[in-house]
Amino acid sequence: MLIDTHAHVNFVAYKDDGDEVTKRALAENIWMINVGSERDTSRRAVEYAKKYSEGVLAAVGLHPIHLKEQKVGAQIDEYESVEFKTSAEKFDYKYYKSLAQDERVVAIGEIGLDYYHNEENKLLQRETLLEQMALAQELDKAVIFHCREAHNDLLAILKNWDLMGNQKLRGVIHSFSGRWSQAQQYLTMGFYLGFNGIITFARDYDKIIKQMPLERLLLETDCPYLTPEPFRGKRNEPSYVKYVAEKIALLRDITYHEVAEVTTANAKKLFKI
Ligand SMILES: [Zn+2]
Repeated sequence: MLIDTHAHVNFVAYKDDGDEVTKRALAENIWMINVGSERDTSRRAVEYAKKYSEGVLAAVGLHPIHLKEQKVGAQIDEYESVEFKTSAEKFDYKYYKSLAQDERVVAIGEIGLDYYHNEENKLLQRETLLEQMALAQELDKAVIFHCREAHNDLLAILKNWDLMGNQKLRGVIHSFSGRWSQAQQYLTMGFYLGFNGIITFARDYDKIIKQMPLERLLLETDCPYLTPEPFRGKRNEPSYVKYVAEKIALLRDITYHEVAEVTTANAKKLFKI
């Protein structure tokens, strides 16, 4: 059994075949957490979870990229580019709280800081993140953090959170993109690091994956984005999380079975599945 801890079958890329994609994964004993990024995708993540008796869970939250109206475009490599439009959403605590109260919602996310896409609204990003961390604290949910080019600020926010006497949060830094020194700080604070298909086509994180404790590593796809080898150029989906597991086994020189067993136990522990 594997758990894709960060999927977006709730996104428009699957509007025609989301249930087929979901069933394909479940048939291989691959579970998933569909992660929301704004009002509608958060609601849809919960709707998907309600349709299945087991194996499909949800996270709800407001991603920093959706705090501003803009056209987002990014070229990931020669095989993949991403384009979408966002509208400026203001975080509505009550709305997200009512969604998150469902027991199938295992985390608040994805939330965080994104200076890669927006640098001019750092204060708004920080305030919105803090409100959602407070929601996670109130409901005792895990947190799924998104962080692009902002690790030192996120680390400072997390350290301050503890210093202010708040309840310690549990969570994952999804699609980890920082340096080893930053990884170590997150690990010391008790957080998990999530890795996806990027590690099958880029070498940047090999060292971190070899050095970090396997007991803190989570598998994810971030589908429909970041499709792993050997499917670069195609739409990603939760069942491809097995290729991420295979790559981790190769890098750490352990069996696929051990990667599956440990990372699944990690996800169950963090998300209280
Ligand atoms: Zn995501």
